[in-house]
Amino acid sequence: MKLVSLSDSKGQIRVEFAGCNMKCPYCVHIHQPKKEWSVEDILEYAGKSTTEDVYLGGAEPTLQKDLMPLIEGLNDLGKKTILKSNGMKPDVLEAALPYVHGFVLEIKAPKDDIEGIMELTGMSEKRTRKYSDLLDKSLKIAKKRWLRIWIRVIPEYVNTETISHILPDLEGASEVMLYQFMSNPDFDLPFMGHNEATPSWREMKDLGKTVLTKVPQVRLVGERGKMVLSK
Ligand code: SF4
Repeated sequence: MKLVSLSDSKGQIRVEFAGCNMKCPYCVHIHQPKKEWSVEDILEYAGKSTTEDVYLGGAEPTLQKDLMPLIEGLNDLGKKTILKSNGMKPDVLEAALPYVHGFVLEIKAPKDDIEGIMELTGMSEKRTRKYSDLLDKSLKIAKKRWLRIWIRVIPEYVNTETISHILPDLEGASEVMLYQFMSNPDFDLPFMGHNEATPSWREMKDLGKTVLTKVPQVRLVGERGKMVLSK
């Protein structure tokens, strides 16, 4: 399996995978150096730890061909696994469903904004239209477990006007995380001329209040740290 990192801290084992089927122009993860780890090595690492929670993230974990043996092995070890995905592989989420505690899925923009999603993901129009259907399927599957939907707030695509087109897809999620773009320059490359945290924290809070009408909890993450809004 191709990994960028494997760590165990702050109550979570984090397995960060390399490689993605999107080419988002602001993504740092797809450029990070990778190293080969076997499923057995990762399971041995996890098995030696008393940490129960495991996060499978990075770029796109569902592309790893040995993902299922890893997920099943973690389940056998009694770990609580959260699987992150961009939603392009609903078949993998379906297979993982019996063995994971929950999912983290990203929504990039309103699904009717085909042009916007193309700019955000570097995908062709044909692939973007396919992605919309795949994301729908993935959301349906992921809502059967604990689900965090995370939205990278890039103001040209996600703002107080366009958020109403995303709201219907949020219903049924456990929480939504709104991430202020460029709030951590280590995570984002400059995009659309943005090279510092944007939009304003005030707009983040307004978006958070709107999203809270659809889900029990909203997390705001940005240059001001973290804020949790609950019903
Ligand atoms: S979907 Fe996520 S991991 Fe993949 S290229 Fe885009 S930002 Fe990076």
